[in-house]
Amino acid sequence: MLQPPHQSLQVAAVPAQRAPVRDRDQDAPWHTEAVCRRDEAGLFFAPSKEPTAARLSREEAAKRVCARCPVMVECREHALLQPEPYGVWGGLTAAERRVVLARRRRRDVELKKAARGTIAAAG
Ligand code: SF4
Repeated sequence: MLQPPHQSLQVAAVPAQRAPVRDRDQDAPWHTEAVCRRDEAGLFFAPSKEPTAARLSREEAAKRVCARCPVMVECREHALLQPEPYGVWGGLTAAERRVVLARRRRRDVELKKAARGTIAAAG
């Protein structure tokens, strides 16, 4: 998995089992334009044992950073395709990304069903 642009100050918050960085992704063009490359406030990953209210506040602050980021779309798609299991990426929390992925899977199933129905009707 790619380390996020805001990774440098977040290492301690990321679980140790996280997969190694892939060099190809590390050089992705969008990565160099990330607004969060210097996340000095530590907004994008939760510290251990973070209270819920603090987490919600931190995530909203991270999302505000994402909202002004020129590579938000690329970052979000990266986090959905990997998928990235932790942190705020592309303006979405991990839970929000799971919802998006579930919707995409349902949509794909429906599209496949529709395609099979079209083929059966034509045959
Ligand atoms: S969208 Fe957010 S997480 Fe992604 S690169 Fe931009 S600031 Fe960082």
